[in-house]
Amino acid sequence: MSTVEFNNIISKLLLDYRILAPVCLEGKGTFSGTDLVTYGDIERIQDVVFDRKTVYSAKEVVFPPNETMFYFTEEEFKQPSVDQKGILVFARPCDINAFRRLDAIYLESGPYPDPYYLQLREKLKFVLMECDHGFKNCFCTSTGTNETGDFSLLIRTEEDQIFCLINDAGLEDLISESLASNSMRKVDLQPRFVQRNKTRLQIPDKLDNSLFAHPLWQEYASRCTGCGRCNFSCPTCSCFTMQDVFYRDNPNCGERRRVWASCMIEGYTEMAGGQEVRKTQGERMRFKVMHKFSDFKKRFGFHMCVGCGRCDNVCPEYISLPRCVEKLQEINNGGVS
Ligand code: SF4
Ligand code: SF4
Repeated sequence: MSTVEFNNIISKLLLDYRILAPVCLEGKGTFSGTDLVTYGDIERIQDVVFDRKTVYSAKEVVFPPNETMFYFTEEEFKQPSVDQKGILVFARPCDINAFRRLDAIYLESGPYPDPYYLQLREKLKFVLMECDHGFKNCFCTSTGTNETGDFSLLIRTEEDQIFCLINDAGLEDLISESLASNSMRKVDLQPRFVQRNKTRLQIPDKLDNSLFAHPLWQEYASRCTGCGRCNFSCPTCSCFTMQDVFYRDNPNCGERRRVWASCMIEGYTEMAGGQEVRKTQGERMRFKVMHKFSDFKKRFGFHMCVGCGRCDNVCPEYISLPRCVEKLQEINNGGVS
């Protein structure tokens, strides 16, 4: 169908869904005169950036950076209401697979699912964006997250033509009227997935505690600045902290928020009495890597990292996560002392 026809379908979907996709925010990039490609609301297909990877992932749709859990006075509290619309998110295979990791953390790791996550997650449907090539630092083929069948709609754009595969009865009902009234042709469409990345690594089968004291981690103690950018851009990092905010005009009222936290930032493991479990950036890097490639898998059966490469893209110190994993494999093979 044409972009005009597809935009008519988007207008129809917007009555029932909020639609988010990679968008370009001009002049909002890290450096002066650069743009930021990140997630934002769209109203037409031309708003979607297909040819660049977003700096931040789509996780903020279900895990906002700053989320009010409830408002309180001295006597009562109230949870904020939630938009009744569904949520459609344009996402690449690795990012869709990242939601499976977030589901494990927020819905399956304790006796009760996290209600704040669940109330947004239940609304979520994916629009699959294909990758015709791996982007800089991607290694999804090494983590096995380059493919997915979890999508409601597949969109492929070729010049001014839009091809779509509807994989969801609810969406099909919603847009079937538009489909019938348009001059569209039927084609056989199968999702295409990237099969090769420039960055490839072999993830060690076994990362045991003998690596804890390895001098490898000291390199990160001196290089990592503890900025936390790697965590904030990661689609599977899910740590948060709590803040009670008291209003200035009435300090007896306020709100409790949960805000993103980072295991790479100093103070993350600080406890009452001043005890800090991980004191150096090397120890923090060790925790992050072991969590992504060992501990999580022991618990859930698959690796936490989906190989999106965003942490490498944003690190101001050019610290490479896959290179670190590669070194661990070399240590396992007896190659790095
Ligand atoms: S650890 Fe890095 S490569 Fe892995 S999912 Fe997070 S940002 Fe992507
Ligand atoms: S982005 Fe780089 S420098 Fe910043 S905390 Fe992560 S590894 Fe350290």
